[in-house]
Amino acid sequence: MTILLLLALASLAFLPAHSERIAIRCGALIDGRADQPIENAILFVEGDRITGVQAGGELPDASYRVIDLRPATCLPGLIDAHAHPLIKTDDYQVDHLRRSSGYKALRGLAVVQEMLNAGWTTVRIPGDADVHYAHFDVRTAIQEGLFRGPRITGAGHYLSITGGGGDVNFVAPEQVIQADGLVVDGVDAVRQAVREEVKHGSDWIKVLASGAMMSAGDDPTRAHFSPEELEAIVEEATRLGVPVAAHAHSAEGIKQAVRAGVRSIEHGTFVDDEGIALMVERGVYLVPTLYVGDYYLEEQPESDAQRKMNELTRKYRAEHFERLGKAIRAGVKIGVGTDYVGFPVAQGTREFALLVEAGMAPMQALQAGTRVNAELLGWEDRVGTIEAGKLADVIAVPGDPLADLSLLERVSFVMLGGEVIRSE
Ligand SMILES: [Zn+2]
Repeated sequence: MTILLLLALASLAFLPAHSERIAIRCGALIDGRADQPIENAILFVEGDRITGVQAGGELPDASYRVIDLRPATCLPGLIDAHAHPLIKTDDYQVDHLRRSSGYKALRGLAVVQEMLNAGWTTVRIPGDADVHYAHFDVRTAIQEGLFRGPRITGAGHYLSITGGGGDVNFVAPEQVIQADGLVVDGVDAVRQAVREEVKHGSDWIKVLASGAMMSAGDDPTRAHFSPEELEAIVEEATRLGVPVAAHAHSAEGIKQAVRAGVRSIEHGTFVDDEGIALMVERGVYLVPTLYVGDYYLEEQPESDAQRKMNELTRKYRAEHFERLGKAIRAGVKIGVGTDYVGFPVAQGTREFALLVEAGMAPMQALQAGTRVNAELLGWEDRVGTIEAGKLADVIAVPGDPLADLSLLERVSFVMLGGEVIRSE
């Protein structure tokens, strides 16, 4: 008798908090996997999971709470594989010196909440501009249920050589300051840096394998870190069970990082044919981050802090798109990253149309920002597609995004793990 009661109580404890059965009716469904949308699909959700997908027809019975989104198109929650929610201004390296870590956490929380509302249900933060780990505090507060926000993964910092994109290169030599990146040189130092990053919650390591566009005083056409340092970073990260993402613009930096064994190349601006072949051979992902360059050129053309970036975009945009087109045709696995650094959050989805401009089909671009990004994260068992067993991260847009990708700027419905975040 007592044992039976205990068993009953034990099974009750495993029931999800909200076990209501929900049926979501969609005008069309893009599930992240199929080549074509499924017309008049019905998604079944129970607790935090999708339990089934039905193509057309009527509901099996009247026990469901119905969310009728027709004629909207449903999609998997978007995944941003590259965003920096702590960065908010064009002169972000000066802003870094001005703002405390606590303040950055508050501001970053507001940003990731905006991202969730805009349809990004998962965000990878590949290092952010803070001495401490403000974005991990944001993640912890969300995981503890203090605030609503997207699923967050990523690295604490971007590892940078002295004088690299994560260093502050515009102050006098006698000034002692702490840079926005983690500045490390030498094989022993990079090993220790990887260990510290993991100790403080990094589930990725981010390394700047070339100079950067946005930072002052370094050159993105140059490779940074020696092959020995890059190998030590990957070896140490692999030992600790975390993948490495390498920021790399320069052709040589890309190849050195790929040879060292990184999981993803970020930006990849000057990737050459050899680099493309290496990426295909080793299954390395490429996250191109196209929108950020256009944003500064179009909306902040007079920015003093982003003068370097704007000049580089003007000079190399066409070449970048051409090289990326080659990579797409060669079959490199392409992810979607907005490189959010303070632009209006909804505009981040313009990345999808730019991938189409570079040579992707619209459906391919949408799958890149959902299923492929989930695979990049190693989270394909949880997110990225709308299938039975996956977490119920679902968004909707008012119309057919395959015909008009700008509809992604007008996300009308967001569900995160079975909970409705936004519904218009
Ligand atoms: Zn970035």
